[in-house]
Amino acid sequence: MNHRSAVDLHLHSTASDGMLSPAELVAHVAACGVRLMALTDHDTVAGVAEAAAAAQVHGIGFVAGVEISVSWRGRSLHLLGLAIDPAAPALTSGLAGQVSLRLQRAARIAERLDARGAPGREALEALQSRGVIPTRMHFARELVALGIAPDPGAAFERWLGRGRPGHVRADWPELAEATRWIRAAGGKAAIAHPMRYPLSAGARRELCAEFAAAGGHGIEVVTGGGSPNHREQALSLAVRSGLEGSVGSDFHDPAIPWNPPGRLAKLPGSVRPVWRGAPFPGLAADPETA
Ligand code: AMP
Ligand code: MN
Ligand code: MN
Ligand code: MN
Repeated sequence: MNHRSAVDLHLHSTASDGMLSPAELVAHVAACGVRLMALTDHDTVAGVAEAAAAAQVHGIGFVAGVEISVSWRGRSLHLLGLAIDPAAPALTSGLAGQVSLRLQRAARIAERLDARGAPGREALEALQSRGVIPTRMHFARELVALGIAPDPGAAFERWLGRGRPGHVRADWPELAEATRWIRAAGGKAAIAHPMRYPLSAGARRELCAEFAAAGGHGIEVVTGGGSPNHREQALSLAVRSGLEGSVGSDFHDPAIPWNPPGRLAKLPGSVRPVWRGAPFPGLAADPETA
């Protein structure tokens, strides 16, 4: 009996801050045993067409996705859009706004790093020359390349994490607003890694209740790097708020060992899988039970 899930609905490519191109990512996750995947880059669907074509070649199920940065009670959270139509106008206009927020925030991150004696502008210029949609992870890697930090984790610790000079708040849209974009694109909205936010247990329950009332569909119950205890808590949040459950590794980089694709536990049977039924493709068998 295989205890690993064959589903992974949270994956990054070079279209945002992943290290593999969309086609390389699909080849990698297929080789890791994943049978149904979503590409969920930060605030962009630019990698989706290439990934969809590669998924056909590898014979695995694929849905278009996105991980949208949103605000809830003044905090930033991540919202997954799954099985979306990447060309839906409400979504593409929303994501265009996200890209400009990211570009503006990157300029402020660079300024603030410079003011503290780190080479922010140099890092930003390197990112601009590659035309990336900048995330803090991109800055972390540039600070490593510039010899300012030994590895990206250390760059977050010293420069980019919460309370550090390069942690710049962006005025992300409200959770309910981005949920509307995803619904307008025919997809399902799911809160990413719900246990990773610094919220009290009560606030987390209110978040899920409000999200369900705003038309949200699910939360990630099984996440990369999440402990069994986190999974139990996320499961109980989903059941209590009537939300569906998702499974996603949040994989970015084959050199980082803590969240490889194809190693996640199966979704517990007490929550409905977000991938069951439309708008997900009708697979011959549920990849989790096959
Ligand atoms: P952003 O959306 O621009 O704020 O960047 C967030 C991304 O940075 C996340 O998706 C992760 O890939 C990465 N990240 C955030 N916090 C950390 C951390 N403490 N250590 C390593 N990577 C992190
Ligand atoms: Mn990321
Ligand atoms: Mn995230
Ligand atoms: Mn992610």
